[in-house]
Amino acid sequence: MRINIYKKVNDTILSRKLEDKKNREIRKREVIKKVPEFRDLTKREGEILFELVSNIKNKEIKLKLEEELEIIKDKKKSLLEENGFSSDYLEMRYYCPICKDEGTIGTKNCSCKNELINKEIYKLSGLYNKIIYQNFDTFDLNIFRKNRKENEFISPYENMEGVVKIAKAFCQDFKNGRAKNIFFYGQVGTGKTFILNSISKEIMDSGKIVYYDTANSLFNLYTDYQFSNFEDKEKYRDKIGLVEKSDLLVIDDLGAEPLNSLKASIFLDILSKRSLSAKNVLISSNLSPYELENFYDERVRSRILGEYNCLEIFGDDLRMRSLGGMF
Ligand SMILES: [Zn+2]
Repeated sequence: MRINIYKKVNDTILSRKLEDKKNREIRKREVIKKVPEFRDLTKREGEILFELVSNIKNKEIKLKLEEELEIIKDKKKSLLEENGFSSDYLEMRYYCPICKDEGTIGTKNCSCKNELINKEIYKLSGLYNKIIYQNFDTFDLNIFRKNRKENEFISPYENMEGVVKIAKAFCQDFKNGRAKNIFFYGQVGTGKTFILNSISKEIMDSGKIVYYDTANSLFNLYTDYQFSNFEDKEKYRDKIGLVEKSDLLVIDDLGAEPLNSLKASIFLDILSKRSLSAKNVLISSNLSPYELENFYDERVRSRILGEYNCLEIFGDDLRMRSLGGMF
């Protein structure tokens, strides 16, 4: 099956537009039924608009017609109010008043369109249901250990408190323009994915496109694309298009994937492209930035050390504890 998110999203926007018109028509009929005079006024309005076009060069007639049009408009408004309707009862009512259900503002996507795209992306990755439960509002700092072990400079609680602060600041900076990328690293089950989900939701809610995937699945997408036949290529191209178009790319679980030199070069390529287009990336990994060199190109390590805020998340494996149902 061919996945064509854009077609689906555009269809939804189009159906919203049609729905707007249909609903306005229903309200119009309701008004005419109650106020028959309304029909004559509307009819005259149509005639005037037609006459205006034919008399476009005759200033005198044009002025007269425009005056009549104004009178009719006022009359219609007062008729509506006299009969218990609001004066804007017959105005268009848009699902998204910002773009009037066009989906775009100039050459840019409206936030309503990006919201639809995000929903489709999340459906594809199965993450849509996850972020409902894993976000900053449901995050419970109290499940992190407050005491320090001998080898710890700070407790997992204090560490996570700082991480959340930086994660929230990232969201704010992102919304204000450009934020610094973050590389979260640490053992499994310490809360990295939860933080990534929380940031993703926050950014998605602001109407930006977030592409979220595990490193394994993301690298597979690119290799599948390279080795697929013509028909499948189109399907993968759609998804790769979304990765590249996304305002924020989130790569979870780096280091857990079976690696080969092709995937390593794909990773470097993704990072370079994002950097060139000045688009943000968030990464979580069980490898520290220094360990990266053992698995990926040296340029990956230097890029991450240079362009990313590297934050370690440490502590106990929270998946082993069923506290708060967070993990
Ligand atoms: Zn909109």
